[in-house]
Parts: sequence; C-alpha cells; structure tokens
Amino acid sequence: MKKARQDKDEESAADLLKAYVGEDVAGIIRELSQKKGYSEFKLAEAVGKEVNETRNLLYKLYNYNLASFIKKKDNKVGWYIHYWTFHEDRVNAFLLGEKKSRLESLKELVSKESRGSLFSCANACVGVDFDRAFELSFRCPECGELLNQENNPDRVKDWLKEIGELEKDIGFLERQKTAKSAERLTENTRLDELEKEVKKSRK
Ligand SMILES: [Zn+2]
Repeated sequence: MKKARQDKDEESAADLLKAYVGEDVAGIIRELSQKKGYSEFKLAEAVGKEVNETRNLLYKLYNYNLASFIKKKDNKVGWYIHYWTFHEDRVNAFLLGEKKSRLESLKELVSKESRGSLFSCANACVGVDFDRAFELSFRCPECGELLNQENNPDRVKDWLKEIGELEKDIGFLERQKTAKSAERLTENTRLDELEKEVKKSRK
C-alpha cells in the first residue's frame, strides 16, 4: 500500500491520455512515471512485456513528446541501455493539441454538412466533398471505414455537443497552462531574489 497517493496521481495522467495513446501506452505511463531514468529492461519486466514491444510503446510516447531517454553503455554487458523519463509537465500541451485539432475537424464537419455536400465515415474522422470522396474510393483515410453521404440532423447535434465539451476542456487546459507558467515565474523570481541576497551578503 506504500505510495498510494502518488499512484493515484499518476493513474490520472495515464487515464487522461488513454483515449489518445491507447491502453498499452497508458500502461507504460503508469509504470514509467514511478521514477526518472527508468531502464528499458527493468520497465519491460515491470509491465510484463517483451523488451522490443516495450521499446515500441516507449517510442510512441517519445513521438508524442511525452517521454525522453538517455543512452548509457552498460559496462557489465557491453551494450547501450536506454533510460527513459516520462514528462508529466508536457501532458497539458499534448492534450491541448489533440483537443484543438479534433475541434477544428468537427467545426469543418458541421460547416460542410450545412452545405449539404458532406461525405464522412461512421467515426467522423474527416469530412470531404464528393470529388475528394471519389479520389479516396469512398474510404476514410484515417480509419478505413466507408465514407457516406448522410443528412442526419442527430449527427450534427452530437457534433455540436462534442464541440461544446471540447471548448470547455480547452478553456480549462488553457487556464491550467497559464496558472502553471505563473507559478514557474514566481518560482524563478524567488530564485533570482535569493541569488541577489546571496550575492549581497558576499560583498
Ligand atoms: Zn474514419
């Protein structure tokens, strides 16, 4: 039961990201956020996956800009080992980016639908006009599902609802970002002042 509180916080970061990065990567985040500079071998052991699979998931996180690594030669075994660190401070920027791009595509869907020329898939990944749908052989370029032309007012209602939720989430994330940078600024000012004090006392 040790570190219970910490575990709860980390779970929430993984849970926030799960919908975007998938359950496998979220599992890696849960373990990786336990410590900085986590050896890929020990991490693989901890999550019960093959090293190669673990590495693939870690590179996904790296491509999302949510993790970084350093390479160190292990003198005992003679090869390089990657030591990974999860960057919780980048979660906000990641979520903002994802939510903003989803918001943009939903707005585009709504505006095309209102012009009555929209082709889209069941997952609402993209909305295209007839010419583009024809070029794509009526397959969604994102998920591969069939592109249909439907005039479904309920669908638009759902999109508008999602747009409202996204705008709320984005507003919250933006405020969180501002609060965090203000916090950092205060912290830096405090450090600057401390430094000045130290310099003054040395004179
Ligand atoms: Zn799709």
